[in-house]
Amino acid sequence: MYPIDCITEEDYKTMSDWINGTVGAKVSKSEIKELTLKEWNKNKIKLFKLFGQKLRIKIPYSRKVDRNWIRQEINSSFYFPTLAKSRLDNYISFGEDNFRPIGNFAYETLYFFLDLYKNKKISADELFNFSLLFSTNNLINNTLNESYYAWWETFKNIDEKHNEILFKNSNKKRELRISLKTKTLRAIGKILKYYDFPYMKDFEKWQTWLSTLCTVKEYKTNLVLSIHPIDFMTSSDNASGWTSCMNWRDDGGYSSGTIEMMNSNMVIIAYLENNSKPFIFLGNEMPNKIWRTYFYINKDILCSGLSYPNCDNLTTHFILDYLKDLLKNKFNWKYQYNNEEYMDMLYLDGEAYNKDSFFEYSTKDLSKGHSIILITNEMYNDIGSHPSETFICCRNWVKTTKLINLSGKRTCVKCGKPIEEKQRATKKLCVACENKLK
Ligand SMILES: [Zn+2]
Repeated sequence: MYPIDCITEEDYKTMSDWINGTVGAKVSKSEIKELTLKEWNKNKIKLFKLFGQKLRIKIPYSRKVDRNWIRQEINSSFYFPTLAKSRLDNYISFGEDNFRPIGNFAYETLYFFLDLYKNKKISADELFNFSLLFSTNNLINNTLNESYYAWWETFKNIDEKHNEILFKNSNKKRELRISLKTKTLRAIGKILKYYDFPYMKDFEKWQTWLSTLCTVKEYKTNLVLSIHPIDFMTSSDNASGWTSCMNWRDDGGYSSGTIEMMNSNMVIIAYLENNSKPFIFLGNEMPNKIWRTYFYINKDILCSGLSYPNCDNLTTHFILDYLKDLLKNKFNWKYQYNNEEYMDMLYLDGEAYNKDSFFEYSTKDLSKGHSIILITNEMYNDIGSHPSETFICCRNWVKTTKLINLSGKRTCVKCGKPIEEKQRATKKLCVACENKLK
């Protein structure tokens, strides 16, 4: 049995729509089977065996909810842009598409208040103050004081003597004064009422959603360990409000790196499913990753990559423990040092973003020492580029420094042939296939 035997009819349709919808190339089922996934099928055999001849291992998982988690949840379902005066007129003259609210309530409030501004019912300062209330910090803390620490500006139109923010509405006799001690949600409610916001029911719904989110203690979902090609192709595409340079929908700067990871015999992808909403693409339901990390698996090292949208050490440790046991049981692979910080590439100071830059910047004599160095070809090397992040690994002592190239071949999603070197790291098609599209 080969990994390809686990690909379902539905998977073929999903991949065909995904490649067509993002890269613009039509690929048939037989092309995906014989060409697109040729390298993947060959190279994932060992990991397929590790997974017990499955493409995904799903583990029910409960994550303690902390501030980071709440932040991640809010950002995935709600976003209200900060409306700085300096950018406002520019934005408005370029059209409203420049404001990208997320969520029904954000949409209604944003365009209601922008209309008030355009009709000169409120000033730019009032609009800015209002938008500041929606900063994630203010929402999580439910207090306004945090705005003093907004990194670029703070509230305008303030009565400093009484510590109050002021709002004026020509339809009302009195101005509205909001004390800086007011709770954020209460302040938002007061302002909406003062300006006769017509969708107060939606405000209440949103308020309930947010309060629930901030009081829940545990997030229950599935943790997925995967070698499924769809999971690699959508490494950084989701409906959870985060992205990275590996995304396909906006042709991310290192998006072809996901193909190297897909075709590598050492890489798996681990993620937590978003339990509250699906990711639909052209009618296909895709895995909706609320958090994800690559894990690199070699006999001498098992190492976590960069986590998106942010670091989650609790989950990373859990995954390492799980994989460590699995590797021991299935392959009898053992590591001498467990769950330690990986520091072998710190000295590069973030310069090893791929193989070429590694050799350009590395001044270390590789024949000496006992490091394990993880390099990549075109793929953005998340370990080599982020010295300030924490990477955790299980590893062995090595006699001499060991260089491990994590990348598989970067192959064309249409014909399966290698994408020519020197082609940009966005390319998912070879030159010949790309020319045929023109
Ligand atoms: Zn091609």
